[in-house]
Amino acid sequence: MSVLKRLYEAQQRQAQRQDARSAIWFVGALYILFSITDAILIGDVIVYAVLLRLAIGTVYIACIGLQIRRDVDARLIELQCALGVVVGYASWLLLTFFSDHSANVSYYLAYGTVFMMVANLFFNFRFRVALLTSGLITLIFFVSAFLCFDFPFHYYAAIGSLYVLSFVLTIFINWKLNLERYRVFLNAMRAEIRQRQAAERGEELLKLSTTDALTGLANRRAIDQELHSLWKAWREGGAAFGVVLIDIDYFRMFNDYYGHQRGDAGLVSMARAMAAVARRHGGRIGRFGGEDFILLLRCEEPEAVAAVAEEVRREVEALAIPHEARMDHLAAVTASIGAAFCRGIAADKPERIVTAAERALLLAKDSNRNCVKLFDGRLFDRVSSQDSVAEAVRTAVERGRVSLVFQPIWDVSAGRILAAEALMRLTAPDGTALSPATFIPVAERTGAIVELGAFAFREACRQLAATEAIPMVSVNVSAVQLGRPDFVETVAALLRETGVAPARLAVEITEGLEIDTDSRVAEAIGALSRLGVQIWLDDFGTGFAGLSCISRISFDTIKVDRLFVQASDTPRGAKMLKDIVTLVQNSGQRIVVEGVETADQVELLKQYGVALLQGYYFNRPMSAEALRMLAAKGGRLASSAG
Ligand code: C2E
Ligand code: CA
Ligand code: CA
Repeated sequence: MSVLKRLYEAQQRQAQRQDARSAIWFVGALYILFSITDAILIGDVIVYAVLLRLAIGTVYIACIGLQIRRDVDARLIELQCALGVVVGYASWLLLTFFSDHSANVSYYLAYGTVFMMVANLFFNFRFRVALLTSGLITLIFFVSAFLCFDFPFHYYAAIGSLYVLSFVLTIFINWKLNLERYRVFLNAMRAEIRQRQAAERGEELLKLSTTDALTGLANRRAIDQELHSLWKAWREGGAAFGVVLIDIDYFRMFNDYYGHQRGDAGLVSMARAMAAVARRHGGRIGRFGGEDFILLLRCEEPEAVAAVAEEVRREVEALAIPHEARMDHLAAVTASIGAAFCRGIAADKPERIVTAAERALLLAKDSNRNCVKLFDGRLFDRVSSQDSVAEAVRTAVERGRVSLVFQPIWDVSAGRILAAEALMRLTAPDGTALSPATFIPVAERTGAIVELGAFAFREACRQLAATEAIPMVSVNVSAVQLGRPDFVETVAALLRETGVAPARLAVEITEGLEIDTDSRVAEAIGALSRLGVQIWLDDFGTGFAGLSCISRISFDTIKVDRLFVQASDTPRGAKMLKDIVTLVQNSGQRIVVEGVETADQVELLKQYGVALLQGYYFNRPMSAEALRMLAAKGGRLASSAG
């Protein structure tokens, strides 16, 4: 039996029970009431008639009513209702035999058809039950009429055909009613299905609009909502929470190297692992776009956020997804993570905490990646918003809040200072020291870098002019500066004014700058070079220009980025350092390695034949005065650092 049919039957049973409840009362009462016609038409047997009708009527009502109340199966009740009608009819017919008013009886017998009508109209009978009931009534009539009465043929023709006709009509009506009922049922079902589908579609749409299609995690929109409600709960009820930002290291390179399909598969498995961590801690994880993920969670202290962040980092690492194309000593996919806790961060808008986590993430990336950094207001500059940095940068030179520090670059084979790198320092109006990593990008964006850069050159030239003991100073320049038409002229004028030999000045240009693509930059480099200023390539190995850059443009010196030294404590890292050193040496250009922090690193670099080194192992950046003193002593390398 089909599911639909079963559903229909179940519904029918319910309807039958309901219909029978009132129908038995009506039918029972009608049956008893017909005592009145009995009195008129067969008055000689009225006592029996009344007794019989009362007995059958009340038994009918009481018996079936009780069963309905007891929840007896609807089919059984249906059968009893039908049987009751047939028994009521047969008993009435029997009664008419005993009456002497045969003429009356002959009319009266036509009323038997009423039983058929009652059976089919008041009860919700199934077709076969209706057929049985009406059939039995018709049969009983014919059998008893032929056996017990002696009416003329015309009578049989008239009343008999009435019975047959009634039988056919009532059965037809029953069939039609049942068909109609089934149709109504189907329509109701259809409507319900449609409604359910609409509801499901609505739910699906809602889900689609809040989930990330690739990973199935919450999308940015859903996360924003969650962030707002967490933030609101914190502001209004004091329920603390944390934000964890996850960035997959060197993921663009992964995609380029392994293809987007592997990239997507990697993201999906990482998403799954991170979601498991989030679930364990009752947090919510989402994809912020690209390879950025975000985790929000309720927690009571910053350490809890950091612990969950560390768990995420470990889970990603544990997946051990191979990544041969990354630029450091590792060979598997890892994540850099920035975390922030709501307390201690301005509560004026929810984005503040995300910004804090972003800053922590930058720090994590800056610390060789694959690590977790927790935002701590004290570690970061108090001047936090970009606007206030821009303001500090704009007025820095005129207010005298900008200065230079110098970090020596040693020639370890000769044991003396080769040069000093000029590094800019800036103090915000409230006295906080801003890191170049914070203010240089802002200055580049606002254009203030031009003025800051000019200051750097002026100051560098002033220091060079002040003492011959400092052999050389290198100054960092941005692409924005190089692209300015008056840049070279400004530098030339400064050199003329201070009388410094151009060969004592170097410019450090970061690899990856538009050296190749921007013709103005290339022209500026050419003009500076003709002027006699040295051109150094900074941060070599971090950009994409790499080889093509050093083979096309001849630099006086190439500075290998500190990333390589710092990764050199593993065999693979050491090999990478050696490869890049050999690459530069083979190009015939002078090599400086920066970021040297330990004696082991110095040893290793010496083995590789690198003599020009810079880093905390030798000196931290120092004031011009300190540098002058160091240089005045002959700029000799202390034995401890030798
Ligand atoms: P950079 O050119 O790579 O400068 C070297 C940075 O590494 C400096 O950071 C220096 O303090 C740091 N450093 C030196 N030795 C070590 C070491 O052994 N270990 C580690 N971990 N770090 C070391 P600083 O001064 O914060 O400068 C950051 C960046 O800001 C510079 O990177 C440079 O790109 C930019 N910058 C600094 N001054 C100027 C400037 O006057 N003009 C422009 N355009 N950019 C500048
Ligand atoms: Ca530099
Ligand atoms: Ca550098």
